[in-house]
Amino acid sequence: MTTAQSIFLVLILAGASARAEEAPKLSTVKLTDRISVIYGPGGNVAVGSGDVAFLIDDELDFIGPALKAEVAKTTPKPVRFVINTHWHPDHTGSNAMLGGSGAVIVAHDNVRKRLSTEQFSVMKNAKIPASPAVALPVITFADSVTLHLNGDDLEVQHMAPGHTDGDSIIWFVKDDVVHMGDMFFNSGTYPYVDFGSGGHLDGYIEAAQKVLARAKPTTKIIPGHGQVTDKKQLESWHKMLVTVRDRVKKAIAAGKSLADVQAMKPTAEFDASHQGKFISAEKFVEEAYQSYAPTKGR
Ligand SMILES: [Zn+2]
Repeated sequence: MTTAQSIFLVLILAGASARAEEAPKLSTVKLTDRISVIYGPGGNVAVGSGDVAFLIDDELDFIGPALKAEVAKTTPKPVRFVINTHWHPDHTGSNAMLGGSGAVIVAHDNVRKRLSTEQFSVMKNAKIPASPAVALPVITFADSVTLHLNGDDLEVQHMAPGHTDGDSIIWFVKDDVVHMGDMFFNSGTYPYVDFGSGGHLDGYIEAAQKVLARAKPTTKIIPGHGQVTDKKQLESWHKMLVTVRDRVKKAIAAGKSLADVQAMKPTAEFDASHQGKFISAEKFVEEAYQSYAPTKGR
């Protein structure tokens, strides 16, 4: 290595460590007079402001203080409600902080069940410990619940098992905004069917269909990850899901093995736009295969 190369390497390493120590980057985008979205390293956070401050999802645990500061840019009020779209740690990480300062946490029954017991993440191959009582939802529901806040009606609706068995989508009825949690990724990745959390590909497809049936071309759609988008983008997501599902189901009916189906590349035309580092094409085919194979293999 030349001296110039060594200096260059040192500069790169110094830059990398400086970045690691920097405060997490969060940014806020205003959607309507009373709804904003905070983008960060975890799941997308919706902020409701007006008479009452509330959040949908609350990021990773170590983002808590930065999230609090970012929310304060939109509303000076303390957060009174938190709705969790599902239990995953990148969507419920600040529950303890917010619950501890008086926020009422609302979620589907299965979110409380999973947060209150140790879980195993297949993705990370690690145990996730039970959350403390202060982080648990105190209002839970089986099918749906409606919150009436800031002059709007928030319909929180449980979906059939998809990403997990506890996913809800939240409609802001008057503002015509919907938060889909991880039932929709707009981050260039395939869906993540978390079988360890009771997921199934059917629920992903059904959730997209339900939102498409109700959404207008002007509806603002908040995905679990990625930029806020619209009905058109959700239509192409739905098309991708059903195309791959149909191909995989057909191959299963013809007696193909998982390896056979993966070799057939049933996702080919979608790979350029959806194959991120998170869920590869092979992994998505495995999710579809596992959802529909008679033995399920799990
Ligand atoms: Zn998730």
